Amino acid sequence: MRSLNLCIFLSLTAAVVYSLPLDREQPPQQITHKDEEFAESYLKSFFNLTKEHKRSFGRRGVNPMVEKLRDMQRFFGLNITGSVDADTMQMMKKARCGVPDTQVARFSTFEGDQKWRTTALTYRILNYTPDMSRAEVDDSVEKALNVWARVTPLTFRRIERGTADIMISFVRRSHGDSYPFDGPHRTLAHAFAPSTGIGGDAHFDEDEDFTYRSTRGYVLFLVAAHEFGHSLGLGHSRDPGALMYPNYIYKNPDTFQLPRDDVNGIQSLYGPNGNVNPNEPTPPTTPNSCDATMVLDAVSTLRGEMLFFKGSFFWRKHLQNPRARQSLISSFWPNAPEKVDAAFESRQTDRVYLFQGRQVWAFSGYDLASGFPRNIDYFGLPRNVNKINAALYDTHTRRTLFFVGDQYYSYDEARRTMDAGFPKSIETLLPGHTSKVTAGFQYRGYTYIYSGSNMLEYSLRTGRLFRALKNDYFLPCAN
Ligand SMILES: [Zn+2]
Ligand SMILES: [Zn+2]
Repeated sequence: MRSLNLCIFLSLTAAVVYSLPLDREQPPQQITHKDEEFAESYLKSFFNLTKEHKRSFGRRGVNPMVEKLRDMQRFFGLNITGSVDADTMQMMKKARCGVPDTQVARFSTFEGDQKWRTTALTYRILNYTPDMSRAEVDDSVEKALNVWARVTPLTFRRIERGTADIMISFVRRSHGDSYPFDGPHRTLAHAFAPSTGIGGDAHFDEDEDFTYRSTRGYVLFLVAAHEFGHSLGLGHSRDPGALMYPNYIYKNPDTFQLPRDDVNGIQSLYGPNGNVNPNEPTPPTTPNSCDATMVLDAVSTLRGEMLFFKGSFFWRKHLQNPRARQSLISSFWPNAPEKVDAAFESRQTDRVYLFQGRQVWAFSGYDLASGFPRNIDYFGLPRNVNKINAALYDTHTRRTLFFVGDQYYSYDEARRTMDAGFPKSIETLLPGHTSKVTAGFQYRGYTYIYSGSNMLEYSLRTGRLFRALKNDYFLPCAN
């Protein structure tokens, strides 16, 4: 049968159970037999693990389950352990699409260059979900197709009867294509690559709660736009910012812009749109850790890991792990600001604080602390401070330092007061340092001060500068 380019989304709700990476000093996560079984079914669905694979050990004597686990870990930028560890389980339980993730590139297209031979395509909405009004379904579908039409020569005409290239339906459980849906969550939708018959068609799991624009339930526009990428010939992307990334991640549908990676993918198949609107904004790109000129927004520690923020993304790096994993901030903390100016970890409260403008968010693990976000008055910062450039916690003096322009403030968290005599010039803290501090954190007793794409290693106690370094000292370059 025709290759299915399924798109299945898995439930986000389960992800919270596996909060290990943000748990404090935890004992190793217990991986149960049930987890092992879950991992096996995941690898069968998305990484082409077959029964034959399972029984026979590979020619090189490697357990095929281990091999597939490594493929999966490589795809998602996880630590490649070849075992079902907690990070891997957490990723497997996330909302995702069911098209197998066999490609290891950024954007990908299906094997054999499956694409439409015409640019004038038709679609038909066969039935409706009761979750939303008909007008909302129509609008979500039209907007989702427009995402692709804007950047290609493709056009989409709706028909009311007969066979369209893209047949859209809401169905549940077994529905006649040998890829049954699985009830609420997990599998949300799937779509087939371009061809005649079922090719191009998109099926949405009626057991899901689809919504027009709410953060609860699954935004039909986002799911449909991703599915239609498959309907047009795109596979999955490893780029965590891409629409074609396998996992479902909420984005505001009103401000959605097709990312650069997806634009490149679809244009590799159909070319660009000849009538480009000159006012069209440039597609958003995902920050690259290999960019030596990159200026990080903020750096912090969190329960033994390092966090590096840039735009709406951040990298997490465990000290023992040579790889850093990139995610959207919103995929981790749906309530966080879209971008952050500064961040620090408080050992007193076991929280990470994220700043944007005059507001601060506090997270304990994945959870927004009650009462947040709140005004930065909370830290005794004066009203004329509109933005914090950097923040760090000094373990020696037990003070939180806030950098604002060429000055800094010192906050005593134990007494919950700002120290007297502040702000002071940054030069009084870091002799000879005259440029702006853009990010900072402490590690093993040293203080790392970021200034643009440079990083300086200081001892705050003596004010001595040890080394001038670059971003890649802690954040490795990896594509
Ligand atoms: Zn997909
Ligand atoms: Zn189906």
